[in-house]
Amino acid sequence: MQISKVKNKKNKATSCSICQKPVVQAFRPFCSKRCADVDLSRWLNGRYAIPVTEEDGAIPTPFGNENIEE
Ligand SMILES: [Zn+2]
Repeated sequence: MQISKVKNKKNKATSCSICQKPVVQAFRPFCSKRCADVDLSRWLNGRYAIPVTEEDGAIPTPFGNENIEE
């Protein structure tokens, strides 16, 4: 019966991993939407190579026959 009490203690000492401020429930595990966005973009940049800016207009065509012209 004491387990639920221990569980509640777990939420203590939670701080934003971006700026170390106390976490706000609505934005867990961050303190604000801004920090959530920062973390998200960090995650995306680290996880995926975003080709948008580097391959400028070099979109591979699904059709390999660009020479066909009538
Ligand atoms: Zn923060």
